[in-house]
Amino acid sequence: MSYAIESFDPEIFETIQNELERQTDHLEMIASENFTQPAVMEAMGSVFTNKYAEGYPYKRYYGGCEFADKAEQIAIDRACELFDCKFANVQPHSGSQANGAVYAALIKAGEKILGMDLSHGGHLTHGSKPSFSGKNYSSFTYGVELDGRINYDKVMEIAKTVQPKIIVCGASAYAREIDFAKFREIADEVGAVLFADIAHIAGLVCAGEHPSPFPYADVVTTTTHKTLAGPRGGMIMTNDEDIAKKINSAIFPGLQGGPLVHVIAAKAVGFKYNLSPAWKTYAKQVKANATKLAEVLIARGYDIVSGGTDNHLVLVSFLNKEFSGKDADAALGAAGITVNKNTVPGETRSPFVTSGIRIGSPALTSRGMKEAEFEVIANKIADVLDHIDDHALHATIKEEMKALASDFVIYDKPIY
Ligand SMILES: *Cc1c(COP(=O)(O)O)cnc(C)c1O
Repeated sequence: MSYAIESFDPEIFETIQNELERQTDHLEMIASENFTQPAVMEAMGSVFTNKYAEGYPYKRYYGGCEFADKAEQIAIDRACELFDCKFANVQPHSGSQANGAVYAALIKAGEKILGMDLSHGGHLTHGSKPSFSGKNYSSFTYGVELDGRINYDKVMEIAKTVQPKIIVCGASAYAREIDFAKFREIADEVGAVLFADIAHIAGLVCAGEHPSPFPYADVVTTTTHKTLAGPRGGMIMTNDEDIAKKINSAIFPGLQGGPLVHVIAAKAVGFKYNLSPAWKTYAKQVKANATKLAEVLIARGYDIVSGGTDNHLVLVSFLNKEFSGKDADAALGAAGITVNKNTVPGETRSPFVTSGIRIGSPALTSRGMKEAEFEVIANKIADVLDHIDDHALHATIKEEMKALASDFVIYDKPIY
C-alpha cells in the first residue's frame, strides 16, 4: 500500500499547507528560528526514518546499518571540519537532550552547576528550576549587569563562592560576544569543566563571525536548526577523547534509544551548506541585518539592551514605556511581524508579561533580505510600537509586510 498525504490525510495536509502560507506571508523574526533548505527537508523525509541504528557508526546493535553508518560518519566528519574539533556526537534529538547528556556524562546527580540565569538570557537547561537541570543538579546562576553585559569579574566571584563542577556559558537572549577565554580563566580558577552552549550563535561561529568556544571549552553543544539553518536537532562536540567516550554513552544508551537517522542525514546536508563559501556571506549578512535593525530602532528612540548587537539578535527594552513586552509582541503579531516577548535587565514585570522583546535576523536573511529591507522593517516595527493601540494601522502594516515578503519566496511547495 502506498499513500500520498494530500489524498490520504487532507486534514493534516491542510495544516501543512496553511503553515507554509503563514511562514510565507509573515515576517519571521523569532531569533531562534530559521528556514532550512529543501535539500535538508528531502533528507528528513527520506527512507532513513524507517531504520533502527542503535549504537554508533560501524558499532551497531542492528543489522542493515551499512548506509546509516555512512550517513552518520559523513555528518560527524563535516561537523568536526565545520567547528575544527576532534569529536562530534550528532545523535541528540534536540539541544536540550544534548545538554542533558553533558551533565549526565560529567557529573553526578546533586552536584553543582553554574549557568546564566534564565531571566537574564540563559536557557532552561542551564540550571533553571523547572528543568531537569535545576531539579537533578544543585544549580546556581550568574546574570548580566543593568548595561546588559556579563561582568566577568562578578562571574569569577560567584564561581569562587559556589565552587561548581560545571560552568555553563552561552545564552538564548544575549546580544554581545561571549568571551570564552575569560570563562576558561574562571573555570580554571575553581577547577570546573567549561561547557559552552552555542545553540544560538553556532551559525556565526562556524563562519568566523563570532569567536569560537574552541580551544577554551571542554565540551560544546549546539542546536542545528537555529542560526545553522539545518534540521531540528542537537549536537555535542569536544577535543577530549575521554569526554567524547562519556558523552557517547550518555546519549546512547544513557538518554536516547535509536538515533533519528533521517535527521542525521539532514544534519550532514545542512553542514555541507555551512561549509560552503555561500555560508560565510550569509553569516555576515545576518550580522549586518541585526546591526541595521538596532541602528534604526535607536534612531527612532527605542532603548536597546547593551546599546546594540554583536550577533543575530536585538533586545528592545520597554522599561521606560507604558506598554509591556507582551503588548508589543501582540501588536507586532497583528502587523505580520513575529517576535517574542523577553525579560530585560532590571525587569519590573512578570515573566509572562515582561518589559522587552527579542528580534532576530537569521530567518529573513535566509529569505534573501538585506540592510535595505531591514531598514524598512525596523521603521515599521517602530511605527507599530509608537502606535501600540492603533489596530487599523497594524492591519495596514500587515498587508505591507505581506507584499514585502512576497518578493522573497522561500518555498514553492509545502512538502519536499
Ligand atoms: C534553543 C536552545 C537550547 C535547546 O534547544 P531545543 O532544541 O529547543 O531543546 C539549548 N540551549 C540554548 C542556549 C538554546 O538557545
